[in-house]
Amino acid sequence: MPNKKYIYFVDVTNRDGVQTSRLGLAKLQKTIINLMLDDIGITQSEFGFPTTRHEINYLNGNLELVDRGVITKTKLSGWMRGIEEDVLLSFQNVPRLKFVNLSVSTSDQMIKGKFGGKKTRDDIIKSTNKALDTAIACGAQDIGVNAEDASRSDIEYLITFGLEAKKHGAKKFRYCDTLGYDDPISAYERISKIAQATKMDIELHFHNDLGMAAGNSVMGAKAAVDAGVNAYINTAINGMGERAGNADLISCLLGVLKSSGMHGKYEIDPNIDLSKTWKLAKYTAYAFGIPIPINQPATGANAFAHESGIHADGALKDRLNYELYDYAELGRGEPEIVETGRMITTGEYGGIKGFRNVYEKMEIEFQDEDEARNILELARYANVHTQKPLTQSELKFIYYYPDIAAKIMTVTPYYMPTGNLKKRVDNNFITQPHLFV
Ligand SMILES: [Zn+2]
Repeated sequence: MPNKKYIYFVDVTNRDGVQTSRLGLAKLQKTIINLMLDDIGITQSEFGFPTTRHEINYLNGNLELVDRGVITKTKLSGWMRGIEEDVLLSFQNVPRLKFVNLSVSTSDQMIKGKFGGKKTRDDIIKSTNKALDTAIACGAQDIGVNAEDASRSDIEYLITFGLEAKKHGAKKFRYCDTLGYDDPISAYERISKIAQATKMDIELHFHNDLGMAAGNSVMGAKAAVDAGVNAYINTAINGMGERAGNADLISCLLGVLKSSGMHGKYEIDPNIDLSKTWKLAKYTAYAFGIPIPINQPATGANAFAHESGIHADGALKDRLNYELYDYAELGRGEPEIVETGRMITTGEYGGIKGFRNVYEKMEIEFQDEDEARNILELARYANVHTQKPLTQSELKFIYYYPDIAAKIMTVTPYYMPTGNLKKRVDNNFITQPHLFV
């Protein structure tokens, strides 16, 4: 077929996932997630916030990994509000950004509720168009416009918003079900209308407040492809994300590949290798410090467990009796080695001997003492940074890319006293003892 359309995947763990209340990731962990997404062949990683000061070194460091050919398949894209000042600041902070998503509120609820009656629907379109022109002038190659609260937005307005954005260079329309309001049928119908009217590739961004994020994503993707455009499903690993989370990456992949209405009829990004997803799910659970729920599709401890008599008997005779897909397809099934005797680890207060022992086990040898001591310093710092025992992937990353490891872990707090703070500093008020504990 000449104009074959695909279902691509944009993982937003490093942007939406880290917005999760009370949870977050260190820059080294975000970097390892980008590398693992690339290893799987996920189409795009929305890797962070270019307007945020503490992200700057991390974002630039990861783009250097692209330049060095370390990240080869996954496109790294930045998220920002769809206003000119955010675009300018983003490209000032991260000049080599090529892929961006500009987020704009499109529902009347948000236009009124957020801007206090000062902005109209037309104002929103005008400022978005200006932001798009600016992004192109700054060197953006691929821009998506995000319609925030799209599921509560007037469909005709969404179409006008999309068409105007397209005229100003937007390549993709992100349909954001910000509150998790859609159901699979409404998702299909609304996406279908937008795709047919705009002929833009559609990003499907669904939240899980009603437990339907994965189903909505799959049906939204089906609608886009049925309408003759590409679909880009937005996901988070292990369904992380604000409130009840975003659409889970592996559930969406499996929903397209294995469900009765999709299986064999729709194709995902051919780069994607499902067999590496288990490793990513495990690492992400560790990095967030949130275990994978026992009944999580595909990755939960019980996803392939059978106990009741009839099920166990049936699964033993032929797994297809009670399993839709095999654990090996996800890369599960390897025995896990847990050290039960002496264990040497390396960390923020670790010394050179234990550190060398840890790297020897990974078959990495240091050429001289200087190299070992330098990498040890970085590993110590990495442990200060993540506050968790370092994984083999993290230790290897530090060894192979010490300059980038040092860069992404460098965060300089903003401290330039002005206004009242300056008065406190000038009056030596900050040097006096205060009771705060
Ligand atoms: Zn979101």
